Amino acid sequence: MVYSGMVMITKGTIRKFVGLMLVLGQCFGVTMLYAKVPVKLALIPENPRPGEPVTLGMTVETLGDEALFQAVLTNAQGQRLSKASFFNLTVDKEGASLKVAILAVPSTARPGSASIQVEHEGRSIVKIDLTIANRSFGSEEIPLDQANTDLRTLQDPQKTAEAVVLWGILSRTGTAVYTSGPFTAPVTSTRRTSFFGDRRIFMYADGSRAASIHAGIDYGVPRGTEVRACAAGKVVLARSRIVTGNSVIIEHLPGIYSLYYHLDHITVPEGVMVSGGTVLGQSGATGLATGPHLHWEIRVAGENTDPDAFVSRPILDKDALLGKIN
Ligand SMILES: [Zn+2]
Repeated sequence: MVYSGMVMITKGTIRKFVGLMLVLGQCFGVTMLYAKVPVKLALIPENPRPGEPVTLGMTVETLGDEALFQAVLTNAQGQRLSKASFFNLTVDKEGASLKVAILAVPSTARPGSASIQVEHEGRSIVKIDLTIANRSFGSEEIPLDQANTDLRTLQDPQKTAEAVVLWGILSRTGTAVYTSGPFTAPVTSTRRTSFFGDRRIFMYADGSRAASIHAGIDYGVPRGTEVRACAAGKVVLARSRIVTGNSVIIEHLPGIYSLYYHLDHITVPEGVMVSGGTVLGQSGATGLATGPHLHWEIRVAGENTDPDAFVSRPILDKDALLGKIN
């Protein structure tokens, strides 16, 4: 699916957009009319499943700074499902570039019609339709003993402070492109004890229950198993946290992070660059864990996203994006 041609907008937005163009025209010293701004788009994949990332490539002449663009995924009822900022991706030796946004389809998204709006400074300039494919997720019940129940339910200012730090990292969109993928799994074991998107019921020690969705993949590996970076990037967190134990977070792309939880030991410091395959530490059962395992998670603009989708294809496939746009 390739979307190419002039911006499609309604009468109401034409007025706003002409106004925007006039303002921009004045700012940049150029004269533009809305109908003369060609926008070309390419979307990969075209029929994502719930939990999967989509990559949107765009060329737009004359509108300038990629940081002013956002992509917003909306369902058929008009509800916003997720959003992401655009970043600049250099695609050839001459320095030509695409504006790219990587969005997550939340695992809770209903299959069916959806659309992505491209917004420029908050105004919609072009819309792409897509179809969210069907997918079913597993379910599991997890009994927690008193210690794990307390970890999950007790109010604790330290826990709140750690959550604020985590969210500050995951909601940050940088500009660095450290990898284009595909990613590799952080352990060689294929033994999974819990899957991405599992619908979970935690059964607390007092008999009460709480629903939750599993944000990553759990590998049932023995304590001491080497855990490796799934791709190149920058270590933005490497420390002990109350709920997730010894935790490492790597930034790979603007808004895209991989997370490794419950490690026995961490062997990388915060702030260093790592290659794909660099040992980050050894697996364990620190934090809220019912046994030794590695929890591996990938976040896209804050949304938890299926790690397998990053292993099965490169998330930034320049040739495929350019091929669809041209
Ligand atoms: Zn897990």
